[in-house]
Amino acid sequence: MKTLALLGGAPVRDAKTNPWPKWPVWDEKEEKALLEVLNSGVWSYNGPKETEFNKDFANYTGVKYAISAANGTVTLQMALEACGVGVGDEVILPGLTWQATAATILDVNATPILVDVCDDTWCIDPKAIERAITPRTKAIIPVHLYGSFCDMDEIMRIAKKHNLYVIEDCAHKHGGEWNGKKAGSIGDIGSFSFQLSKHLTAGEGGVVTTNSFELYERLDALRNCGRRPVNEETADKGAGVYVDQGNFLQSGNYRITEFQAAILVEALKRMPEQNKNRDENGKYLNSLIAKIPGIIPMKRDARETEEAYFNFSFRYDKSKFKGLPVQQFRKALTAEIGIQVSASYEPLNKCSLYNPLTKPARHKLNDAYWAEINPKRFDLPVCDRIHFEESVCVHHKVLMGTKADIEMIAAAIQKVYDQAESLL
Ligand SMILES: *Cc1c(COP(=O)(O)O)cnc(C)c1O
Repeated sequence: MKTLALLGGAPVRDAKTNPWPKWPVWDEKEEKALLEVLNSGVWSYNGPKETEFNKDFANYTGVKYAISAANGTVTLQMALEACGVGVGDEVILPGLTWQATAATILDVNATPILVDVCDDTWCIDPKAIERAITPRTKAIIPVHLYGSFCDMDEIMRIAKKHNLYVIEDCAHKHGGEWNGKKAGSIGDIGSFSFQLSKHLTAGEGGVVTTNSFELYERLDALRNCGRRPVNEETADKGAGVYVDQGNFLQSGNYRITEFQAAILVEALKRMPEQNKNRDENGKYLNSLIAKIPGIIPMKRDARETEEAYFNFSFRYDKSKFKGLPVQQFRKALTAEIGIQVSASYEPLNKCSLYNPLTKPARHKLNDAYWAEINPKRFDLPVCDRIHFEESVCVHHKVLMGTKADIEMIAAAIQKVYDQAESLL
């Protein structure tokens, strides 16, 4: 048997001589588009690239409106504010997500209510949502995590019954489909990120989607210093500028630049094909690793008609690996395949980047609120188990190559399985 790479043996894949597909992806189309923007002198502010991208993204997602903005954090904040979420309101979100999902709730002076997730998808548990609803609940933020989809049928049923807004955090799910409907077209608002690691990127950026004209007007104003959006009547078509509409909404500048939008226009043309390839490779990889004892693929609901991946993830059971802790398993796998293999996000009640109580000047509205926003008051046993014992995640770019790449990942996991004992 070949020695494990972590113990000095040859890796299954030497990423120096046989690199993984690169991310991000670009070519001369982006180069040309960026130069076009540069030379036009129109670098921001409702320019032609932004307008084009918003239209393309709305069409692609199957919604009436898409409004792009600076990043996927401010888009969540805009979504909450557009729904009128603020002081006194509670917002229910999963305990397993990037800290921005919760931090933006604080930033609108509402209270994040952390609930547990399903252990087979790592997405918010609809039963936990129902248990957490109070007369103060105003919205739910389901997060379609990694290669999984929230049970949107259940979530929409609960939201309807209790008259709640649903803001889908789609930072991992551009192009993913539930029952033929794209992520971001099911709830009231969808929020997406174009940060560098996401599978549609301009380095930074974000977009919100909605079918509601009323929400659209508010979202557009919120990103643009409160100005009511331009429309057929108010546009000065010659100059392409706004006619000042006066008092509408207090807000600041969360606008995207034309450079970002130019890249996004080109990147969105490539994404459907990339998503399809990742989806096929993801299915293939799941079929291979399902045969290895102690490896549990994520559950794929029959209603997930198209999967989108930010990370590929699976569950690990150390009892089948001679008791090898998951932390060691991830190190061994990283060494075999030459790309970082990580844990899931930290549960938000223990997250090193989610510390509301470090900012009393901003968040200590009163003593009751101060106690409410302490994340330690929430109990998230499933999130804990996932993060500390089971989760294995790797960036989506490993799914962007060939079947041979996929077979290498499965072979690397098998190799660690066969020699788990040598790491103990
Ligand atoms: C990336 C991400 C965000 C925030 O997006 P940024 O563009 O980085 O601000 C929000 N939610 C989730 C789940 C994310 O992964």
